Amino acid sequence: MSARPVLRFAPSPNGELHLGHALSALVGFDMAKRLGGRFLLRIEDIDTTRCREEYVTQIFEDLAWLGITWEEPVLRQSLHFTTYSAASDWLLKLGLLYPCFATRSEIGEATETRPTALDPDGTPLYPGLHKNLPKEEVALRLGRNEPFALRLDMDRALDALEGITGARRVTFIELDDEDNPQRIEMDPADWGDAVIVRKDVPTSYHLAVTVDDARQGVTHVTRGRDLYAATSLHRLLQVVLGLPEPVYHHHRLLHGPDGHKLSKSAGDTGLRALRGQGVTPFEIRQRVGLAGNAPEGSARNLS
Ligand code: GLU
Repeated sequence: MSARPVLRFAPSPNGELHLGHALSALVGFDMAKRLGGRFLLRIEDIDTTRCREEYVTQIFEDLAWLGITWEEPVLRQSLHFTTYSAASDWLLKLGLLYPCFATRSEIGEATETRPTALDPDGTPLYPGLHKNLPKEEVALRLGRNEPFALRLDMDRALDALEGITGARRVTFIELDDEDNPQRIEMDPADWGDAVIVRKDVPTSYHLAVTVDDARQGVTHVTRGRDLYAATSLHRLLQVVLGLPEPVYHHHRLLHGPDGHKLSKSAGDTGLRALRGQGVTPFEIRQRVGLAGNAPEGSARNLS
């Protein structure tokens, strides 16, 4: 394993990059420079219906324009579904996943009649439909080619976690803006029986990100605070899959005038549009609050 830190930016090509992405990419790139580390780019395109090739091309152009460089080859998640399937097969063998045939409306009805707590994203926890289905019924439904997701059996996963670490909660190291480490403890049970393999593609964001950070040797995961809570699930998957533990830095988010996190449709904050208006990469750094942190070698962006 490389002794140098490894960092990455992992955008999903389902829209144009905006100032929020610029902040995320620059935070990771600057930290890689500061630590003398390597910087990788990963295209998180598992959602084959929403991701578009032209956005991938634009990501390369926008990042290069910002003065960001990355190592080749770029990992494209859509080309590695078999790797994620190998990981989910292993979790199945460990007895930690179960097939869930429930439709969205079945789940909606069940949680309306019997409300459950919400997960950190605000979605009602899975009410357990189709959990512990008799083997024969599972075989029958599989035989009828009914679509199914694979869900984590959270109780069993916590048993496995406890068997390995002695605790039912996970911990990780979070670096603050000055790189000071703090040990954080979280309860993955907050996510309930989360979907690990979606119905439409043979993975989920949570599984793919966990597998890829490990196989790319990522030592420092930098990403927005919106993914802070998801880290408990990622740490749980890392432990049960026997993968190494990276350190994390969840950076602040940028908000639009409405107070909401910038979204893909935040037109006037799109990097391409700003570039077209003659905004310089340095001004982008200023707008995202990183102008004081330009790493060595980026002076060429000052125009
Ligand atoms: N692909 C995710 C996004 O665009 C980021 C994943 C991560 O950094 O862990 O929000």
